[in-house]
Amino acid sequence: MQALPVPTYDDVVDAAARIEGIAHRTPVLTSTTANERTGASIFFKCENLQRMGAFKFRGAYNAISHFDAEQRKAGVLTFSSGNHAQAIALSARLAGIHATIIMPHDAPAAKVAATRGYGGEVIVYDRYKEDREAIGRRLAEERGMTLIPPYDHPHVMAGQGTAVKELIEETGPLDMLFVCLGGGGLLSGSALSAAALSPQCQITGVEPEAGNDGQQSLARGERVRIDVPKTIADGAATQQLGVYTFEVIQRLVQQIVTVSDAQLVDAMRFFAQRMKIVVEPTGCLAAAAVLNGIVPVKGRRVGVVISGGNVDLERLGQFLG
Ligand SMILES: *Cc1c(COP(=O)(O)O)cnc(C)c1O
Repeated sequence: MQALPVPTYDDVVDAAARIEGIAHRTPVLTSTTANERTGASIFFKCENLQRMGAFKFRGAYNAISHFDAEQRKAGVLTFSSGNHAQAIALSARLAGIHATIIMPHDAPAAKVAATRGYGGEVIVYDRYKEDREAIGRRLAEERGMTLIPPYDHPHVMAGQGTAVKELIEETGPLDMLFVCLGGGGLLSGSALSAAALSPQCQITGVEPEAGNDGQQSLARGERVRIDVPKTIADGAATQQLGVYTFEVIQRLVQQIVTVSDAQLVDAMRFFAQRMKIVVEPTGCLAAAAVLNGIVPVKGRRVGVVISGGNVDLERLGQFLG
């Protein structure tokens, strides 16, 4: 199979048509407290309220919607620390095809259970010892399945870009946009939409302090690989940006900043207490950068993507208690 080209905003528009009526058009929330605290007008795009609890449904469903008859017959395969797994499992079920998911042994229990609940077949591996991409490639070859990776795939990136497309269509042009960054599927897709719909918008990626490979990569002009970071932002505990995602991020994203785990917990508490919404630690990255003034936003119209809300209730209790 020939490699797909780097996605453009046209691919985001195509993805939006494919997921219409299937993915939720998630709400955009505002908070007087957040606006007063920052002096800005903040628009939160609530992908914690997306189907299966995160934006990843968009990219997964879009990717599977491109399968031909042969690919549908053999099924889909992926590796994921959680939300992409659920997204693939649910998308596969909706498309009527089989899904196999390779998950790390320490993935949050709620995410493993939900993936199985959506009908996905789960294969567990040790993420400190084994290379999930090698396992994925081997299984794909053995079973003839199509591997859909969590971020470094043009159809996945285009699907993720639909969230910010919806956001800017609703709010009008923004001065600044903050998006969390793991492997860069969401940030690259978001950047395609923001650059097309709000060209003046300054785009900032936000990573956990413990895993700033994206920040290092942007500074050096090449993809930097780091050790598995230890952070509560499990959805952003990636070691390296993708080839496709880095290409887009390097071209369209102005800066990448980091926040600490303590700042993520503060943001989780803010969302629960003030906005009455449950946001998982990774989902708080972008908001934490804004609420803590990591980048000055005073007087600006600011988009913030809340990426997901899947967190074990017990862990949530510990964070909020
Ligand atoms: C996957 C995920 C991220 C990171 O997305 P990338 O596309 O890998 O950068 C952020 N937040 C949540 C909730 C996720 O599930």
